[in-house]
Amino acid sequence: MELQEIYSQKEYYPNCGLTFRRPKISFEVFPPKDNDISSLFDELRLLKKYNPVLVSLTYGANGTSKNFSVEILKSIIGLEYNLMPHFTCMVSTKEEIERHIIAIENLGIENILALRGDLPGCCYDLSENDFKYANELVEFIHHKTTLSIGVAGYPECHIESKSLEEDIQNLKRKIDSGASAIFTQLFFENDKFYRYVELVRNLGIEVPIIPGIMPIRSLKQIDKMIEMANVAVPKNLREQLEKFPNDAKKIGVEFAISQCHDLIDNGVDALHFFTLNHSDMVSEILDNIL
Ligand code: FAD
Repeated sequence: MELQEIYSQKEYYPNCGLTFRRPKISFEVFPPKDNDISSLFDELRLLKKYNPVLVSLTYGANGTSKNFSVEILKSIIGLEYNLMPHFTCMVSTKEEIERHIIAIENLGIENILALRGDLPGCCYDLSENDFKYANELVEFIHHKTTLSIGVAGYPECHIESKSLEEDIQNLKRKIDSGASAIFTQLFFENDKFYRYVELVRNLGIEVPIIPGIMPIRSLKQIDKMIEMANVAVPKNLREQLEKFPNDAKKIGVEFAISQCHDLIDNGVDALHFFTLNHSDMVSEILDNIL
């Protein structure tokens, strides 16, 4: 099912008739590092009971899962999930990209998350690239395939942008090039997400904006995220993790539960979970919010 259709449908809690709307749930998983597909199968089977509308599969930074990615998609297609493979264009030529997107389409997959990917280094010169920014990739995919295209959004501004306003102008280029949904970077402060949605809507962008939720497992993980992305960590969350490092998973789950409750209470009707292939924590969260 295509992104437009998925996010225009309304979901209801079973046994509650059409009265209580249920948020649409989706999951991000990544290709197993040791090529052991069975562990990914186990994760996906466990998550099936939450009736996800979509499962997205990450693409290794700088194309590291290039060859592996289509093979994994072939193996998990039988699980009958609505799949949305990620794809980054940073280190691929136009010909390689065309081969890849056609291969995905030929598998019967209907969606793709089109990303530029991180710069390979701080002084990287983009001028040699066939595609410099994700909007060019979106335009190419839109032209060459019938895939429905999702793109990334950054409620706290992408790390390379000078301002959130500038970053949202660039987001608009992706939508104008044919993207139909925005999947956000993880965030911990919902007010930042609400403000982001307001700014995006003010620019006339009407496609669904799906918030990315990541349950925290440790302080180390948080510090890594801050280094890689522009994500603020609430003072009280950090303090708790510092004080009770052995309870980090419990703290992370409780924080995510209250974050999701607040999003749902504020009318958000879709949540995208970065599982990091640890479905145990995501299951605990979903058992509490659904
Ligand atoms: P772009 O939209 O191209 O933006 C990159 C920067 O350039 C931004 O600062 C933007 O404001 C600016 N910009 C955009 N267009 C223009 C333009 N035309 N002119 C000038 N400036 C412009 N990475 C992976 O390697 N694999 C993954 O599987 C993966 N999955 C992700 C999933 C989600 C939900 C998110 C939020 C991110 C993911 N990433 C992944 C990370 C992503 O690749 C990086 O954040 C990358 O640095 C930017 O990719 P983008 O598609 O947002 O780039």
